[in-house]
Amino acid sequence: MDKRTFVKSVLLGVAGVFASGMAVKAASNRKKWDGTFRMPELPYSVDSLAPFADGETVRLHLQHHASYTDGLNAAVIAAGLNGRTAHELMRMASEYSEDIRNYCGGYVNHKLFWRVLTPTPGLKPAQVLLNAIDRDFGSFDAFKEKFNQTARSVLGSGWVWLIVDSSGKTKVTFTPNHDNPVMDVAEVRGFPLLCLDVWEHAYNIKNKNRRSDYVDAFWNVVNWDVVSRRFQSASKLNFNLS
Ligand code: MN
Repeated sequence: MDKRTFVKSVLLGVAGVFASGMAVKAASNRKKWDGTFRMPELPYSVDSLAPFADGETVRLHLQHHASYTDGLNAAVIAAGLNGRTAHELMRMASEYSEDIRNYCGGYVNHKLFWRVLTPTPGLKPAQVLLNAIDRDFGSFDAFKEKFNQTARSVLGSGWVWLIVDSSGKTKVTFTPNHDNPVMDVAEVRGFPLLCLDVWEHAYNIKNKNRRSDYVDAFWNVVNWDVVSRRFQSASKLNFNLS
């Protein structure tokens, strides 16, 4: 098995377990997924993330998310792909249209974004994640600096990520537009743990184009419980963390 195939199969495994976990949950809570992508409910109020993002920014942002969701539903139907999960679509993004790639990424990336944010202060990464970050970046501060620098220096719209790759290494990456590190078109592939939207619509109301202030405020609203859980789930799936 070559490296690319290996990476692909690990990511398939990760996505598969997540998909089946979701299916089990769906079966117990509600009826089987009907193939329609839906907006998640925000687990906090639209005003509660300020000063990172004020209510007006979050509402605008949710409108974008809703339009990506509608666009994705229309695009999969038009392409005869309804019933495919978002992970399935992302893993084979190179084989589908630009519309599917962009709408699917826009839909999934925002869904994760809302989940990795929280108004609850004082959450900390789990020790196992801290250990990996220390090993891979030198220190937690060095990781933050790398993430901040990436977010501040990239040109144009996109997303900054903390990912774990198939060897268990944590990395900071950037994807342009609405690409996602699970996509086969991503330059650096891996399982997303944390993401930051650096499209202008994410910060230009509150911060008046000061991306730097937006990036600094991000660290006060990261939901490290969710990020740590994602890392631990990924690490159970054949990721060697030693
Ligand atoms: Mn956005």
